[in-house]
Amino acid sequence: MSHILKNDRVKLLAGVDSDKEPSRVVKIIGDKDMALVQGRNMKWKHLRRSQDYPHGARVQKEAPIPLSKLMVICPACAKPTRVKYLVTEKAKTRICAKCKKPLGEGK
Ligand SMILES: [Zn+2]
Repeated sequence: MSHILKNDRVKLLAGVDSDKEPSRVVKIIGDKDMALVQGRNMKWKHLRRSQDYPHGARVQKEAPIPLSKLMVICPACAKPTRVKYLVTEKAKTRICAKCKKPLGEGK
């Protein structure tokens, strides 16, 4: 399990959108340790001619961002935080490094 999960609110630490408000993780690309973040790191994608786009098209799409460039926003204290784990006999829970509240399961 990566420290960042789908539906987390995250802040970008680097790149063109690092000064923008936090946004939501829409997808984790697990084998690459990357994430797609809603409306962030948008790249133009050029589509070839197809039935839907008889003249081709340019569409904007989220490009993957490395997980190491993202910081989770804690829902309890609303600050960007590192992720810690609370390990009990039954489960491993993600908690905020600052206020120790659970960060949720990313669903
Ligand atoms: Zn917190």
